Amino acid sequence: MRVMKFGGSSLANWQRFSKIAEIIAVAAEKEQVACVLSAPATVTNTLIETVELAIKGHNFELLLTNIEQIFIRLHSQAAEEKISDTQLSILNSELIAHLSDWRQKLAGVKLLNECPDSVQAQIISSGEKLSANLLEQILIAKGITSSQLDPQELFLAHGAPLEAVVDINLSKPKFKTISLNNNRVWVMPGFSAADSEGKIVTLGRNGSDYSATVLAACINASSCDIWTDVDGVYNTDPRVVPDAKLLTQLSYQEAMELSYFGAKVLHPKTIAPIAQYHIPCYIRNSFNPDSLGTLVSNDTDTTGLNVKAISNLDEQCMFDVSGPGMKGMVGMASRMLGAISQTGVSVSLITQSSSEYSMSFCVATLSAAKVKAALEQEFELELKSELLEAIKVRKNLAIVSLIGDGMRTRKGVAAQFFKALAQASVNIIAIAQGSSERSISTVIEQSKTKNAISACHQSFFDVQHYLDVFLVGCGNVGTGLLEQINKQAQMLKAQNITVRVCGIANSTKMLLNAEGIELSKWPLLLNESQQISNIPEILNWICDQQLLNPVLVDCTSSSKIAEQYVDVLEAGLHVVTPNKKANTRDLAYYQQLRQVALKQKRQFLYETTVGAGLPVIDNLKKLLCAGDKLLQFNGILSGSLSYIFGMLDEGMRLSQATSIAREKCFTEPDPRDDLSGMDVARKVLILAREVGLTLELDDVDIESVLPEGFDSSGSIDEFMENLTQVDEAFMQRISRAKANNKLLRYVGQINQGKCSVNIVEVDSSDPLYSVKGGENALAFYSQYYQPIPFVLRGYGAGTDVTAAGTFSDLLRTLNWTRELDS
Ligand code: ADP
Ligand code: ASP
Ligand code: MG
Repeated sequence: MRVMKFGGSSLANWQRFSKIAEIIAVAAEKEQVACVLSAPATVTNTLIETVELAIKGHNFELLLTNIEQIFIRLHSQAAEEKISDTQLSILNSELIAHLSDWRQKLAGVKLLNECPDSVQAQIISSGEKLSANLLEQILIAKGITSSQLDPQELFLAHGAPLEAVVDINLSKPKFKTISLNNNRVWVMPGFSAADSEGKIVTLGRNGSDYSATVLAACINASSCDIWTDVDGVYNTDPRVVPDAKLLTQLSYQEAMELSYFGAKVLHPKTIAPIAQYHIPCYIRNSFNPDSLGTLVSNDTDTTGLNVKAISNLDEQCMFDVSGPGMKGMVGMASRMLGAISQTGVSVSLITQSSSEYSMSFCVATLSAAKVKAALEQEFELELKSELLEAIKVRKNLAIVSLIGDGMRTRKGVAAQFFKALAQASVNIIAIAQGSSERSISTVIEQSKTKNAISACHQSFFDVQHYLDVFLVGCGNVGTGLLEQINKQAQMLKAQNITVRVCGIANSTKMLLNAEGIELSKWPLLLNESQQISNIPEILNWICDQQLLNPVLVDCTSSSKIAEQYVDVLEAGLHVVTPNKKANTRDLAYYQQLRQVALKQKRQFLYETTVGAGLPVIDNLKKLLCAGDKLLQFNGILSGSLSYIFGMLDEGMRLSQATSIAREKCFTEPDPRDDLSGMDVARKVLILAREVGLTLELDDVDIESVLPEGFDSSGSIDEFMENLTQVDEAFMQRISRAKANNKLLRYVGQINQGKCSVNIVEVDSSDPLYSVKGGENALAFYSQYYQPIPFVLRGYGAGTDVTAAGTFSDLLRTLNWTRELDS
């Protein structure tokens, strides 16, 4: 005989009941079947809520009506398609009987303001009975002989009435009294049993899985199939990690550890009965019966990694029993565990430091009060005499465990596990590894579970490295960057780098999507978005999503955004930007940024702030690290002014050259930023600070391209119009230089600890003489590079090179891992 268990998710509506009846009918053609059923989805939860309301003296009628409606709907749909009127009236009268029984019991509970466990067990286990009634009638209507097995007659259990354990040895003989051959299919309600006094008990939440394997053990079934709503057991909860991998085979021990440490797909007690009797168990999907599922048996799949899976057990709290009286005191552990066992609560993890000063253990938060009271009673004297400190209970914790038979033979698993947690900024509160070495468990804050699981999954099972990009500023460079990311995505993926753009914001709106925004549609999606652009909100959202490697890319030229980098770094993001504003604010902020980045182990990268895509900052840093010292710097640092001054060489007027440069996107959005010299001054200051000069922007001596007294106020268009007024003066200045075989160049300089920006006349022997057309040239005279300077030359402006430089900074953040140091 084959046991088949169907969980609440497989019984949510009539279509699901009908589907599982088909699955059973197909199986029953080959072999006799015993089905174990849960209550339809939501029913048990609702029954538990009715009890809670009644205890508080509140009205529970509405909830009972909800349950009634679920079954009335199921019955009438069954009547429409399959079952006869007589069958329908049997089902409805049983439903009415249950409703009246619930009402009576709940009225008593409401009156007493308490509910004995045995009464609670009777109420909450009856959803499964109603499921079994319906399936039995459907099968009969299909012409399959079937009747029910009563778990309260057949399963003898002991232990806490709501967490009972079935005694298989005592239950097994009871099946001998039934002629199992009489029916092709047997149906049994899951979740319940009876104790030695015949009182109904339940087997713990989610306990129908356990009912099924107990039944399989009692009737010595050929196999036990657990049908659920996923294709089998995954290497982690597929709801937490969408690309979790399906496991085809697990050993009993692995499955036991997984279920024990929280994999909801199997109730923790499920595996023991079938492991004892070596019955194979298949976890399968009732929504996708063609999938083969996961086989749990004596064997494991040894082809893959030694680490099989990661699980999480939520809503835990940790007790810490410590004090001078603990040291060397024989029997403390036994007294502590003895007191806990009296409460019937199961301990999920225990650790003790070798100094024997303290022992810690975890239990489900729901049971914390009970356990605390029991311990305080057990250790009353020790607590009074201060041999023990007051018992500490830490709440809102989760246990994250790594599981796999093969971990025994592999070194470095724990190191890799803890490193992954550190990189996800998850603090480990306690650690436990059994000597079976089949699992390693860590206790962490529950709010960090998703982060922890994703980081571990990525470290052990995923070859891809992720970059989660948040782009602020959708001007030329921002848009260009998005295009480049989109174009390169496949190529990078082949190199195991996945770039997900999870946020895009302009000055008014923003768009967020943790799975990554579809880049071919971003302008449309951003336009349709209702969210107002706001950096603190983005940071909160990132924290909620628990993203692993978020990077803020600031493609604005806004001071307001630059002022928020400290918060952004504090929130755990890298910052990548072509925006010069942060690095040219006051020195205190400049230094704070670096300190925070260092502390947070996050990168602040701004290669494109000087020389656009040219590798200026990185090379300069490397030279300084290698011990070089800057003596002097001369450079054409503005692509726009290089372009404009090159055009002036050829006789063009200043206003016309500026207008063409603007059209070609060589200038800043407002060309006054270039012509005022401010943009070059910022770049010189960034370089100067890079070599250690403690200067402010005001310390840079700037000669503006615009003559003194020129009125540069008004809108950009007004300014462009007024610019013609200086054309004549410029023409004359150029003619004078030409008369001496010289050209005008706009040069930024660092010399003897001072920074300046000037219009300089250069002759043909100067390396800057031939630099024009938007090119930048940077000449570094240093201890190692003199008298011939180290020169970097190439396009220093333009959307493509700046976006590409930003992209390359973005990829550099991948090499950085983050660890927690406080
Ligand atoms: P049923 O109603 O069939 O008993 P459950 O909801 O109790 O179903 O269990 C199935 C759910 O368990 C899945 O939908 C999945 O979200 C969750 N789950 C948690 N961990 C795992 C895992 N490692 N593999 C598969 N599912 C898991
Ligand atoms: N219906 C019970 C519960 O929800 C048992 C089960 O479905 O496994 O806990
Ligand atoms: Mg379940």
